[in-house]
Amino acid sequence: MRIFDGKLLINGKWVAASNGATEEIKSPFNGSVAGIAAVATLIDVESAIASALKGAEVWRRTPAHQRSAILMKAAALADERSEEIAQIISSENGKSLLEARGEAGRSGEIIRLGAFEGSQLYGTSLPLDANKGTGQEKLGFTLRQPVGVVVAISPFNYPALLVLHKLAPALGSGNSVVLKPARATPLTALALAQCFVDAGLPDGVLNVITGAGGELGDALVSDSRVRKISFTGSTATGTHISRIAGVKKLSLELGASSPVVVLPDADLELTTRAVALGGYINSGQVCISVQRVIVHEKIKDEFLNALQPLVEKIKVGDPKADGIEVGTLINAKEATRVSQSINNAVKSGAKLITGGEQDGSIVTPAIVSEVDPNSAIAQDELFGPAVVVSTATSTKQALEFANSTPYGLGSGIFTRDVDSAIQAAREIDSGIIHINWTPLWRADLMPYGGLKASGIGKEGVRSAIEEMTEVKTIILHGRAWN
Ligand code: NAP
Repeated sequence: MRIFDGKLLINGKWVAASNGATEEIKSPFNGSVAGIAAVATLIDVESAIASALKGAEVWRRTPAHQRSAILMKAAALADERSEEIAQIISSENGKSLLEARGEAGRSGEIIRLGAFEGSQLYGTSLPLDANKGTGQEKLGFTLRQPVGVVVAISPFNYPALLVLHKLAPALGSGNSVVLKPARATPLTALALAQCFVDAGLPDGVLNVITGAGGELGDALVSDSRVRKISFTGSTATGTHISRIAGVKKLSLELGASSPVVVLPDADLELTTRAVALGGYINSGQVCISVQRVIVHEKIKDEFLNALQPLVEKIKVGDPKADGIEVGTLINAKEATRVSQSINNAVKSGAKLITGGEQDGSIVTPAIVSEVDPNSAIAQDELFGPAVVVSTATSTKQALEFANSTPYGLGSGIFTRDVDSAIQAAREIDSGIIHINWTPLWRADLMPYGGLKASGIGKEGVRSAIEEMTEVKTIILHGRAWN
């Protein structure tokens, strides 16, 4: 048993849920037990918030260089424990060890970004004398400070990365946190929290509660003592949160149906290589996964002929077996949902080029062509290992199709023509646009967030810190001296 198995982190201590309830967290691949999680109650929510309020008082008054030093220690521990964390990610989430190692390996870097950016809370001086009636006897400036208690709620698909994109900026900039990780993947979050505890984070600054998102989430997000909600998850849950949150800061990183436009002058070797990665990593359970390819009709056949062998080469199976690139979906129910969506598309006239077979929680990588851009498989978030291909007759039409869903998170365009690239950058309504790559690419320092139903606000450590801090305006009123 690890120290965090079956426990919550409240006020710096690993404690059982108030009623002692726990549950087994099982591998989506074979049902083996990855660990035990506590099932928190509303009493635990109250304890976690009360603890975070005390933690926030201590942490906001801790000098930034001391906060940074503790985060740097936590980052070093995350590096040291990277293999252990990767094993936990793969066990509870079902992604391949290859992918889990990549994810765990970024943990230290994200925490170091938080350590640095959190110490850079600059303000601005205000040229008050530019206003008529004000001389040079006043000084004005802005002061950036932590908001207080941040509630962080994360999804299952990147159990380390998406937790740390909340913890690192929040803790780096002097906030306390109550974290509620996804019910399917709490163990990774607890292992990461242990790095912060072992690094010497003061009691109460980080609190983690595990259990049912609906019950705990509603209590956390509607609490008026919480000053900021940082949520990553589905558009449906995000919409619900925005209704009940009340007056507080809100960042919502939500769902998507990300498009990739392929124009006739695209480098097809590059394009197909990128799509064969971007559509299938993590079994397509990525908010920036390539869901829709909109290819110019002139090169459709050439594109599909080059893509198919690459997709068929992807090694899918037991997440922990040697050489496996892509593991399972999060559970068999999700796999059934995805394979049914593919079947329904085929029934309505689309053509299955390859894949789409379900075996338990695995769905083989699929390509579906001749897809109507207005059909459900293009419009609704699929969150599974399939790329759906539609054709366009012009750049203008391709960009219209790219914009035709309610979402707007990531997108990509493949072209060698700078005019088309500029047009895409200006016209596609998404928060992140890649020229000559797919949306499935992220640097942890870049601003990251969606438009439309894909959300509100930006993550990426520096951007997240802006949203997790308040700006006060300070005016010093001196006497006129001449
Ligand atoms: P989800 O069902 O919305 O759950 C996300 C988190 O919200 C979980 O921790 C969940 O807890 C919790 N939750 C559930 N009900 C809640 C409530 N009433 N109040 C507060 N929190 C509540 O999403 P998911 O299935 O885990 O993740 C997949 C979705 O996340 C996809 O739509 C994907 O696109 C999106 N996503 C977006 C981004 C981005 O950056 N835009 C990144 C990754 C994923 P339980 O697990 O206990 O239900």
